[in-house]
Amino acid sequence: MSSDEKSLTPRDEDFSAWYNEIVQRAELVGYTPVRGCMVLRPYGYAIWELMQRRLDEMFKATGHQNAYFPLFIPESFLEKEAEHVEGFAPETAVVTHGGGKELEEPLVVRPTSEAIIWPIMADWIQSYRDLPLLVNQWANVVRWEMRTRPFLRTLEFLWQEGHTAHASEEEAEEEALRILELYRSFMDDWMAMPPITGLKTEGDKFAGALRTYSCEALMQDNRALQAGTSHNLGQNFARAFDVDYQTEDGEHAYVWNTSWGVSTRLLGGLVMTHGDDAGLILPPRLAPIQVVIVPIWTSDQQRSLVLEVAGRVKGVLQRQARVHVDDRDTLNPGAKFYEWEAKGVPVRIEIGPKDVSKQQVTVVPRFGSEDGDGKMVKPESQAIATIPRMLDNLQRELFRRARTRRQANSYRDVTDMETLEEIIAGDGGFVFTGWCGGEDCESEMTEGTVATIRVVPDEEFRSDEAPESCVVCGGEATAEVVCARAY
Ligand SMILES: [Zn+2]
Repeated sequence: MSSDEKSLTPRDEDFSAWYNEIVQRAELVGYTPVRGCMVLRPYGYAIWELMQRRLDEMFKATGHQNAYFPLFIPESFLEKEAEHVEGFAPETAVVTHGGGKELEEPLVVRPTSEAIIWPIMADWIQSYRDLPLLVNQWANVVRWEMRTRPFLRTLEFLWQEGHTAHASEEEAEEEALRILELYRSFMDDWMAMPPITGLKTEGDKFAGALRTYSCEALMQDNRALQAGTSHNLGQNFARAFDVDYQTEDGEHAYVWNTSWGVSTRLLGGLVMTHGDDAGLILPPRLAPIQVVIVPIWTSDQQRSLVLEVAGRVKGVLQRQARVHVDDRDTLNPGAKFYEWEAKGVPVRIEIGPKDVSKQQVTVVPRFGSEDGDGKMVKPESQAIATIPRMLDNLQRELFRRARTRRQANSYRDVTDMETLEEIIAGDGGFVFTGWCGGEDCESEMTEGTVATIRVVPDEEFRSDEAPESCVVCGGEATAEVVCARAY
């Protein structure tokens, strides 16, 4: 056995070790000589491209256009919005020299782009006719994190950031919620990673925002992953960067802004939602290879025979699915199975000499669904015809599993700190409880349990009966909150 074939650390034993091994084994990322910076390898990048493609379609279908803004932000710009700079300054990278000379004004490498986008877009907005302005940028950002983990926290990461301007607070609020819903449906339908959505507390909102909404997904180790956020920025940035315009009545007014983003962190979510002890499991919609065909031969004569059939099956199947024939003669079939399992390919088709003579193939789904589990021998034409439905069923099955797991690990009616602490210190999960709205109670909750308030959940996620009292102080609850230990 080569070191490559050492089995993964089981999830039950050490989830964190399992995660670090799997992202490398599946060739999603690699380490680099730059501390805290990862390389997205071609297979990992291909998953990101599929995510990107779908999200981009969704943004455009809701009226947004892409643009690209500078990587650098003059330091004085970042300082214009007080809360924003306070929130981001500790983790910025700053360029002080260029072309061998000290710069007159240092340039901050963007940690997010509000402070460069609004001074520029302010010029694009003169009158109410220029509104709403709906822009998205696909970019990299840099945040100087001290402790890093592939996808979840790295110095540089890829993301998209939407930035919009509106004539009224209501419109900005509608936009922030529209995007929250867009993210939720992407995570449900494409990632099979159903999040809880809701409002962030004042203490946990985006630096400079009026309100932050978030998608919080529950990973297999029962920790929460903040997977996407959408902010109503109010007029904070408009005032800081003079984004004003002439209203229909000829008066001057500041615009109302939103910003929102999801990043390559979603890949970490995908791994931790679906992977098992054999490796990655990819939802078919985001699998760069949906079907891998592994031809099996022991002689040159068999080789050309099975490769011919493999090519024919691929030819038909590739009209409806992303198919790859693994014809490498440097690896035996067992090693290939092992590799594609680790990479999470949803369906494997094996074609050996015996299959060829019987005009059949062996179909092996990566995991069980209503179509069955384990090896299934089928006539070639039938196998080809049923693959698209099989992929749909696998996609649905992953969603069903993830939602069932979330429900099984959600605790409602928790009314005292002892129970909250016990759950968090034990198996973890989403704990629904009451909160008085006090900042002291929020921080006490975190100190006692390492859990944080993830969100005030949206209506569809709330308990049937609203909690009456705050889990910390026992005072009257003003909101139900979801607590969890988070990444
Ligand atoms: Zn309280």
